[in-house]
Amino acid sequence: MALLSTIDFPHLIIECEGFAHKRIDLHSHTKCSDGGLTPETLVDRAVNYQIDVLAITDHDTVAGFDIAQKHITDKKLPLTLISGIEISTAWQGFEIHIVGLNIDTNNTDLQHLISQQQKAREDRALAMGDKLIKCGFDNIYHDAKALAGDGSITRAHFAKVLYQQGHVSTMQQAFDKYIGKKGSKGQRAYVKPNWCTIEEAVDVIHSAGGSAVMAHPIRYDLTSKWLRRLIVQFSEAKGDGLEVVLPQMNADQRQKMLNYCLEYNLHASMGSDFHYPNKWSDLGRNLTMPVGAKPIWAQWS
Ligand code: AMP
Ligand code: MN
Ligand code: MN
Ligand code: MN
Repeated sequence: MALLSTIDFPHLIIECEGFAHKRIDLHSHTKCSDGGLTPETLVDRAVNYQIDVLAITDHDTVAGFDIAQKHITDKKLPLTLISGIEISTAWQGFEIHIVGLNIDTNNTDLQHLISQQQKAREDRALAMGDKLIKCGFDNIYHDAKALAGDGSITRAHFAKVLYQQGHVSTMQQAFDKYIGKKGSKGQRAYVKPNWCTIEEAVDVIHSAGGSAVMAHPIRYDLTSKWLRRLIVQFSEAKGDGLEVVLPQMNADQRQKMLNYCLEYNLHASMGSDFHYPNKWSDLGRNLTMPVGAKPIWAQWS
C-alpha cells in the first residue's frame, strides 16, 4: 500500500499555515473494535458531515481500513481516508493509548504486534470472564465475545453486556464497580492486561512508515508531574505528536497540550474518538487546529 503524501491533499498544507479550515478527524472507531458503526456506515456519516479527512483508529486492529477504502472507491465518495490504529500500551501501571497514523497496514512488524495485542486481549477477556463469574455473573465472556464478533474484544463489550443484562444501570457503572481500574489494584473484575510498551508501539508505527501520536493525554487521570514524565518518555521514545484537540477539552487544557507540543517539539493531532452517535460528541465536531501548532499531517510528505 502506498503511503499518503501531502501532495495527495494540498488543501491540508494550507490548513497547516492556518488558512481556510478543512474538516479533519484523526481518531475514530468502528465495529472492528468497540465502535457502533460498520466501516461503511462510519464513512457515510463522515461524508454526510462534510468531513474531508478521516482516520479510522480501532483498538489494536487495522481491519476496518480496507473495507472503508473499498466503500469510498466503489461509491466515489469525496473523503480521504487515513490508515490508523490505537495501540494500548502499559506504562507505570497506567494504560496509555498510542495512535498510529498513515501506516502501511500490511507491514509485517505491525501485523506481528497486532497478533500479540490480540492475544493479550483474548487472555484478559477470559480472565475477566472468570472474575465476573466470581461476582455472580455467568457467561459474560461468551456474550461479550459474541458481541465483538470478528473484531477486537474490549472492556466496552463487557460493559455493554453487563448493562444489557441489568447487572449495572449504565456502562460507566460497569467500569466503576467491576472492570475499571481506579487505584492500584482496580475493581473486582479488573485484570491487568499484558500490553506492549510505549517504545514498542512507537517503533512498530515507525517501521510501518507512520506517525505515532499519544491519544487523549488529558484522560489518564495523571497529575501534571506524571503527565510531564509521560510526555518526556514518549518524546524520548521518538513519539511524533500529541492529540491536542478533542471535543471535550476546554480552552485551558488545549493550551496546556499545545505548550507541551512546543516545549518538546512534538506535532499536534486532533480527533473526536468517535465510537457511536451520542449527544456529547460526533465526528469532526469542535475540531480546529490551534494557531502555532505543527499539524501531524505536515510529516506526511
Ligand atoms: P480496553 O481497550 O479493552 O481496555 O477497553 C477500553 C474502552 O472502553 C475504551 O476505549 C472506551 O471506549 C471504553 N470505556 C468507556 N468507559 C470507560 C472507562 N470509564 N474507562 C475505560 N474505558 C472506558
Ligand atoms: Mn474505545
Ligand atoms: Mn483511547
Ligand atoms: Mn479511541
